[in-house]
Amino acid sequence: MVKCIVIGAGPAGMSASLYLKRAGIDVLIMEEGVPGGEMLKTDKIENYLGFDSISGGDLALKMSKQLKNLGISIIKDKVVSVSKKDKFIVKTLNSEYVADYVIVATGRVPLKLGLKGENDLLNRGVSYCATCDGAFYRDEDVAIVGGGDSALTEALYLSDICHKVYVIVRKDLRASEILKNRVKNKDNIVILKNILVNDFVFDDRLTGINLNNGDKLAIKGLFIAIGGKPNLDFLSDLKIDINNGYIKTNEKMESSVKGLYAVGDVRDKDFYQIITAASDGAVAALSIREEN
Ligand SMILES: Cc1cc2nc3c(=O)[nH]c(=O)nc-3n(C[C@H](O)[C@H](O)[C@H](O)COP(=O)(O)OP(=O)(O)OC[C@H]3O[C@@H](n4cnc5c(N)ncnc54)[C@H](O)[C@@H]3O)c2cc1C
Repeated sequence: MVKCIVIGAGPAGMSASLYLKRAGIDVLIMEEGVPGGEMLKTDKIENYLGFDSISGGDLALKMSKQLKNLGISIIKDKVVSVSKKDKFIVKTLNSEYVADYVIVATGRVPLKLGLKGENDLLNRGVSYCATCDGAFYRDEDVAIVGGGDSALTEALYLSDICHKVYVIVRKDLRASEILKNRVKNKDNIVILKNILVNDFVFDDRLTGINLNNGDKLAIKGLFIAIGGKPNLDFLSDLKIDINNGYIKTNEKMESSVKGLYAVGDVRDKDFYQIITAASDGAVAALSIREEN
């Protein structure tokens, strides 16, 4: 029996645990992999306050050390189900826990194009986050794959940094009118509709892409913005309000299930960043403290 179980040791879960522990609330944090989450996939973070530039691995290590110094132990285990009677029952691959509160901080997996070389080119020309990596492509030609709101938001962001931004859409743009109009007013954004990326051209880094109309684009960066899949299969026993696959919360990070909070990338929100994930974690923990 524990007061609060945090599922996932990315920045959201680690921040929640830190705030809970400092508030004197008994907390256990479960992580199926290595603490750090998606941060571990990037070698340069330049937008997290307090660090001019730091690798994702180093930032993750600093965060997990901070937890360790506070006496918070991260249990290496995968949560397979969460159910609720009067309390929450959290089942993992190896054990079962009972808790008054659960904070879900399990993040999401960005959807991939599934093309040859995609994994190897991560951080070497291929990225899933323009806000994170756009600055590495200053004055270069880049492309974005995707036609939704996030793809166009990223295109607008990149258009202020990069020389030319191609937006490659499988069919037509699905984004809101306001974003479409903003994009139209940008001279350096080119929309390519009804087009697919056939394959990547690369040596040790991406140098271009071949399109299914026979054209080749010489670009230094390709941003894939075709959505993400939140990790929440283990919540299927609970009736949680979901929007577009993400957990809906109020401003306190409470889901529709009393006592269950969602923080970070698994939550339905506008901005998916380390700093916003850490902020969500702090808010959830402080909301739980308020109740106790
Ligand atoms: C390539 C890349 C580069 C990025 N660069 C930046 C950047 O420069 N700046 C920035 O601000 N943001 C960046 N981001 C975004 C940032 O990494 C995420 O917004 C942030 O990590 C989200 O934090 P989170 O804690 O919500 O989720 P995550 O970091 O995804 O952590 C979730 C954790 O939960 C664990 N987990 C999942 N399911 C279970 C389960 N069933 N049981 C136990 N554990 C589970 C996972 O193993 C993982 O460790 C980048 C993302 C990517 C992919």
